[in-house]
Amino acid sequence: MSIFIEHTLPCPGCGTPLSYELVQSVNVDRRPDLRDAILDGSFQRHECPSCGTPVRLEPEFIYMDMGRGQYIGVWPASKRAQWPLCASNTREVFDHSFGKHAPDRARQLGATLQVRAVFGWPALIEKLLARQAGIDDRTLEAAKLAVLRTQEESPLPGQLELRMVAEHGGDPVLAWVGPPQDGDGAPPPALRVPRQLISDIEAEPAKWQALREQVGDGDMVDFQRGLLAV
Ligand SMILES: [Zn+2]
Repeated sequence: MSIFIEHTLPCPGCGTPLSYELVQSVNVDRRPDLRDAILDGSFQRHECPSCGTPVRLEPEFIYMDMGRGQYIGVWPASKRAQWPLCASNTREVFDHSFGKHAPDRARQLGATLQVRAVFGWPALIEKLLARQAGIDDRTLEAAKLAVLRTQEESPLPGQLELRMVAEHGGDPVLAWVGPPQDGDGAPPPALRVPRQLISDIEAEPAKWQALREQVGDGDMVDFQRGLLAV
């Protein structure tokens, strides 16, 4: 079941009170339209009826997709610095619903779910796209680092985060996403990860093991954890 709670917040443009339906839990097996809306960026996006200011609320909910085996604690980007606490909170909620503190039947369902914690919309979208493309998220993160090392000049994660945003001809496409930058404007160009690199990483686990371990910590699989500005 997907659970929504009504909230009222002032418009950041004109102060008009706006009411939102804030989601607490998204179950996309019953509401595939919600997954589509997350992917196309329209989910929880509103426009103030008085002044037209676009408002996108930061996510804070549990995302569940039984069919694809995903259970994701989605947190606002503003809580990035507290990722260890948020990730353990996600695990605790999971344990009560589907994990070690849950009844047998629920535990059986839980065994088919991969638990993750993410911060902000781009990180959530990335997990959905990687799963859709059949790419393990640790492999994807390791591939990101491998591709970054081949770039002559690449920004360090900080204000911008490197996220999978699409798939072209089987290759994941990465973009630097984030708030508009001061100064010369345009973000660095998108990077295409050759699918062959993904296959190579999976084919030689021993060779890539150190990197695959480095990119994740428990349910938090993101090489940028701890690097991104809040
Ligand atoms: Zn307004």
